[in-house]
Amino acid sequence: MDANVHALIEHYGVTANTMRFLDQPKRMFINGQFIDRNHELANVEDPSTGGCITQVPLGTTQDVDEAVAAAHHAMTEGEWSTFTPRDREQVLRRIAELIRENAQTLAEIESLDSGKAISGCKNVDINVGANTFEYFAGWATKIQGATRQTSFPVECTTYTRKEPVGVVGAIVPWNWPFAMAVWKLAAPLAVGCAVVLKPAELTSLSMLYLMELCVKAGLPKGAINIITGKGSTIGNHLVSHPGVSKVSFTGSTPVGKTVGAAAIQNVSHMTLELGGKSPMIAFEDADIDAVAASTLNSVYFNAGQVCSAGSRLYVHRSRYEEGIEKVKAVAQSIKLAPCLDPSGTMGPVISASQRNSIMGFIEKGKAEGARLVTGGNIVEERGYFIEPTLFADCTNDMTIVQEEIFGPVLVMIPFDTEEEALTLANDSIFGLAASIWTQDISRAHRLIPKLQAGSVWVNIHDPGDPSMPFGGIKQSGIGNDLGPEQLEHFLETKGVWIKV
Ligand code: NAD
Repeated sequence: MDANVHALIEHYGVTANTMRFLDQPKRMFINGQFIDRNHELANVEDPSTGGCITQVPLGTTQDVDEAVAAAHHAMTEGEWSTFTPRDREQVLRRIAELIRENAQTLAEIESLDSGKAISGCKNVDINVGANTFEYFAGWATKIQGATRQTSFPVECTTYTRKEPVGVVGAIVPWNWPFAMAVWKLAAPLAVGCAVVLKPAELTSLSMLYLMELCVKAGLPKGAINIITGKGSTIGNHLVSHPGVSKVSFTGSTPVGKTVGAAAIQNVSHMTLELGGKSPMIAFEDADIDAVAASTLNSVYFNAGQVCSAGSRLYVHRSRYEEGIEKVKAVAQSIKLAPCLDPSGTMGPVISASQRNSIMGFIEKGKAEGARLVTGGNIVEERGYFIEPTLFADCTNDMTIVQEEIFGPVLVMIPFDTEEEALTLANDSIFGLAASIWTQDISRAHRLIPKLQAGSVWVNIHDPGDPSMPFGGIKQSGIGNDLGPEQLEHFLETKGVWIKV
């Protein structure tokens, strides 16, 4: 461990369990075991200092083959295949309990690995993980088909059966390493699938810790397998694997297109949860204080590295200057701090390369004529911190309005009419989410069907619950995570005919 990371940990303190985990060698988890094979190792960086925390193995295509075989065996002949729905419910509930018991350790590991501010990490990320396991535990005993009355001339009893789709290949990004991974694990396990999951190469640690908890919970071997390493090699091998029946991917739109193309070669099922550039629309009757306050969660949370970030703010011209002043005050109130500082509201961005990419967008915004209201600078010599940034007077044709920046950068644009606001909001290749801010319930209902987004929120941005589906339209993706809708993505429907 690098001296700067050590100093950070010494200063803020972590649990003994966190230290034990960080100090021990990291190993991939295949067929119920942490495997030790002299893999090439990659450094894991702490974004708050840029120092090395630990190392993770770089998996190989052989590891993927072995993990897929283990998952297949678990589903067909292993102990997992003998689990009744009630058994599955109980083991998922036990995992959720262990996540809650280990919330502090998980939050510390996640925070150090991803740079997320520890407060949000524990209250949001880890909590979301436990809630998601609990929610889908309840579904394990409620999977059902239907009887049908056909008009076929020969009398038959007919019904449908819902069966697990097969081995799931899951790939997740670095911005919600724990929560996104749990979104990919809980639903397929509830219906009896087995999963091979690859975390993002930058953020594998919380999944490896979760596997310790899964062993304690009594999850049968092969039900979950974790392969760490590069997307371009093992990620690609996993989504192209003929033994994988369902690809469940969350990441960027360009990589999602490659993943979808690979999955279709095996005619595998696929869910793609991709990028976004989600609008917030504040009308003349909006509570502008609430709009401004919501930017803490909508665009500045996790340093803006949120797929559904409300990164475009359209404000009615009559409230526009007031809106700029209020958002500016919120942005300037944010406390940038190293991830483990409990008083920090924003940590660093994930890496030097992400910081450089965001700064490139900021420079582009200035060059294209947007008004920089606040922020726009790198703030620390050590670590990858960027000031919360606000651009005003943008136009929809600017790069910073059209492209996903994935950083703490908000763009503001005025509008005059409802039609104009709708046109501007829908003028994007993405369609992940949108929020409407108004006191006029009729206007909200008028706009909800017309907004091209997988989620629409009124007078709030980015609420979440495992019972509500989350997914994108247009180039933001195909299919949903969460909600009963997600279960269908892991089930095949078999039609059964029995001649009477
Ligand atoms: P990314 O697309 O670069 O990587 C995502 C994952 O794909 C990583 O695990 C990576 O290793 C893997 N990967 C890379 N190349 C691959 C390949 N050829 N085959 C298979 N896997 C491959 O995304 P990122 O930078 O890690 O994450 C940020 C992106 O994720 C943003 O665009 C964000 O909007 C999106 N995201 C979407 C959602 C959603 O629910 N819609 C949620 C979170 C993040």
